[in-house]
Amino acid sequence: MQSGLIGYDIPARAGMAEQDIQTPCLIIDLDAFERNLKRMSDFCAEAGLKLRPHGKMHKSVDVAKQQIAAGAKGVCCQKVSEGLAFARGGIDDILISNEVRDPHKIALLTEIAKLARCAVCCDDVENIAELSAAACAAEVEIGIFAEIDCGQRRCGVSDPADALAIAHAAEAAPGLRWEGVQAYQGAMQHLKTHEEREKAAATAISALKAVLKALNAAGLSPATITGGGTGSFRHEAASGLWTELQCGSYAFMDADYGQVLDETGQRLDQGEWENALFVLTSVMSRPRAGVAICDAGLKSLTMECGLPVIAGRDDVRYVQASDEHGEIQDEAGALTINQRLRLIPGHCDPTCNLHDWYVCVRNEKAVELWPVTARGRSY
Ligand SMILES: *Cc1c(COP(=O)(O)O)cnc(C)c1O
Repeated sequence: MQSGLIGYDIPARAGMAEQDIQTPCLIIDLDAFERNLKRMSDFCAEAGLKLRPHGKMHKSVDVAKQQIAAGAKGVCCQKVSEGLAFARGGIDDILISNEVRDPHKIALLTEIAKLARCAVCCDDVENIAELSAAACAAEVEIGIFAEIDCGQRRCGVSDPADALAIAHAAEAAPGLRWEGVQAYQGAMQHLKTHEEREKAAATAISALKAVLKALNAAGLSPATITGGGTGSFRHEAASGLWTELQCGSYAFMDADYGQVLDETGQRLDQGEWENALFVLTSVMSRPRAGVAICDAGLKSLTMECGLPVIAGRDDVRYVQASDEHGEIQDEAGALTINQRLRLIPGHCDPTCNLHDWYVCVRNEKAVELWPVTARGRSY
């Protein structure tokens, strides 16, 4: 375990009780985390799908290594700088699930390709020549996925002819490897009910089918069709079209995903997935009757998907945040000074990016520290 001054360089040392960990900090409940990894790996194995979890969620080489040890083939990254951090950390199969157009960023992509099997998404045939020139200059090979817009209206081509043009160009261009199609519908992930998600999935499926028809007819059948997230993966799997899932949040979960309901109407955090990531906070003041103040606010948790939920307690509630403080409603005055509370963040991805370390906890003791390797790497 890393050395340093507790509460300055590092939040904890091995063997420390959870009650002594310096807050605010991220903690991973390893038992819950390992069960989440196993569940997703078992699902993929049974469905005959590859798993390439999204690393933008945790930004941690150590978490990625655990996912790979549990059966994943590699990781997705959203940004080239994030991808390079993973490649330098020893992850050897990286998909940048995003478009890369800036020349400096394309050069960084070739740095990843020197260290790892590397692929990138493309939604403009003009990008192919840029990527090919850089790959040739650096003497590397870069895989190409045509990204299709399957309902999110963000990046991605909408016309099958555009996907076909990208496939043709990638197949012909030196330094590039035609790999397949990315079809990820980000906007459907948090739709609350199974029925809403099924409807969005139907749109995604028909968009993908149209593209596959064009590619197959031209002899450019994709080897890999990648996509899917924690809220949608059962739909992609059931379609029989996708070959690889990119789920990210399943490993940690968060309060926003907790509210999503499965096919039977059960919350996702009450069924398959467990909250494994928390922001540990300390009660630092009890200024008035019914109120406790904790030390985790906007600099420790992002709140764009709602306030954090206090794990395992229904008698106290996090009700308001400022930069460095959180206000907790504590009607009965149950909380005591220095008491630790586990907060389930509203949204895990941007919350992880606010911290330097994960403290891995088992049986309420710190057992390991993992750096948030790619923290701040959003270039
Ligand atoms: C974020 C993301 C995912 C993973 O989504 P989760 O909801 O965290 O499971 C998968 N693919 C792409 C392209 C993404 O951007």
